[in-house]
Amino acid sequence: MNNNNMQKRQELLQKRAEAGLVSERFPNVSAMEIKMVYFQRTMYSDSDKLLMLRTVKVAPDSHAYFHMQCMTKICESSYNLKRTINGMVKNKKKKASGKISCSGKGEGLKANHACVEYEITVRYNNKRKKA
Ligand SMILES: [Zn+2]
Repeated sequence: MNNNNMQKRQELLQKRAEAGLVSERFPNVSAMEIKMVYFQRTMYSDSDKLLMLRTVKVAPDSHAYFHMQCMTKICESSYNLKRTINGMVKNKKKKASGKISCSGKGEGLKANHACVEYEITVRYNNKRKKA
């Protein structure tokens, strides 16, 4: 790993730590599952190509950090699911889905170079725990 990557890794760890744990942020959540389908456009084509499927399982002791890195090599941007998840938990919603386009800009990056379709499932504790 070069210095640049190391620094990025450090920053990510820092951000995750600052985000706190799911059990602190969302005490009534017992589990979450974030299913994502990554699509990408190449330089050679204007249609979205399926890149990968990814499922992230979130437990109460996971970090409440919901920025999913764009999988495009030169892109530094990420998909932010934080607002969606905050909204779901606030309204005790169990399922939500949608699509986000990457907003990353830069040399060699197309405006719509990548997007994800997500489906989020949240499970809640039935019992109210007293702190
Ligand atoms: Zn991107």
